[in-house]
Amino acid sequence: MAKRDYYEVLGLGRDSTDDELKKAFRSLARKNHPDKNPDDPEAESRFKEIQEAYAVLSNPEQRRRYDMFGHDAPGGSPFGPGGFEGVNISFDDLFGGGGFESVFSQFFGGGSSRGRSNRGNDILIRHSITMAMAMLGGDTELEANLYTPCESCEGRAASSPDGVKTCSTCSGRGQVAQNRKVGPFIQQVVSDCPNCNGDGRIITDPCKECRGEGREKKKQTIKFGIPAGVSDGTRMRMGERGEPLRGGGGRPGDLYIQINILEHEWYERDGSDLLMALPVGYPELLLGTKVVLPHIDGKDITIDVPAGSNPGDTLELKGRGFPRSRGRGRGNVTVLLKLFVPEKLPKKVKKKIEDMQDEIGIDHDLIEDLVRQEARKRRRSR
Ligand SMILES: [Zn+2]
Ligand SMILES: [Zn+2]
Repeated sequence: MAKRDYYEVLGLGRDSTDDELKKAFRSLARKNHPDKNPDDPEAESRFKEIQEAYAVLSNPEQRRRYDMFGHDAPGGSPFGPGGFEGVNISFDDLFGGGGFESVFSQFFGGGSSRGRSNRGNDILIRHSITMAMAMLGGDTELEANLYTPCESCEGRAASSPDGVKTCSTCSGRGQVAQNRKVGPFIQQVVSDCPNCNGDGRIITDPCKECRGEGREKKKQTIKFGIPAGVSDGTRMRMGERGEPLRGGGGRPGDLYIQINILEHEWYERDGSDLLMALPVGYPELLLGTKVVLPHIDGKDITIDVPAGSNPGDTLELKGRGFPRSRGRGRGNVTVLLKLFVPEKLPKKVKKKIEDMQDEIGIDHDLIEDLVRQEARKRRRSR
């Protein structure tokens, strides 16, 4: 399927303003939020498409590139080789103050840089979980060495609250405007305030513990919940749990935890379904059998192989897969039957099989019929 034009996705003209962009995104994201469309499996992909369009068009640099090259910009997708992965935006974030902007500002590292940001860096931590945890969800935690506000000065960077003064040169704005003469013109140049280095504050008694940094690196235990049925690569945002600004002030960045689901010993996951291959011997295919295996939901699964099965047949165990995304019910476990062929046959066994060959082997006189039958079956199943 061809990738849709970002402006078309958001229903906007190419000359739309930032405000119109934000409004269109908010309204479409609310309409298509998977939480509000539990019965519509398409909602999630539409939600992601809207997110991607907004991520690019809300970044001035990326929007210029997109306007110039469309989807075929040199260097490939701006989101890297894997393309856009989507982000978790809660429904609440789409109302009022709009917590969603900070989610998007992480993608292209800053975007419009206007002096010193008043937010610390966002941090991304990759966290691996088992497939059982991904299926069932639950509380977990991780340990990381991260910056946190200095305990002794509470992140102020000054020993006492009085030790933080508003810079008088820039009146706390962090930036100063200077008029410079360029030929016949007067050009106004805005730059970081030289007195406070763009901070807007002057620390008169730096905290001794953090040497005026306002933060310290500490081993932290971060507790968080995994939603049941989470997909690989999901990013969870923890607001203001990222890096505090160096030198205090402002707000800390956000902390993102990216979920990596570890491989299971025999299952492969396909959305809410699980796939596995089951080797069974020729007698079991012929006569049927029951196979019991431990399952990731904690209860065993019983695979009922009917008599007269063929290698390549698939069996569906309904409702034993992953929870379906935001909907009700669970996906299936699909079992692919494979023929188990022993590597070595003891002489005695070989002899027995040779004796049975007339009954269970192929009849060479009928081989053309058999081949024809097989071809018909294959064409039917296509
Ligand atoms: Zn301190
Ligand atoms: Zn200043």
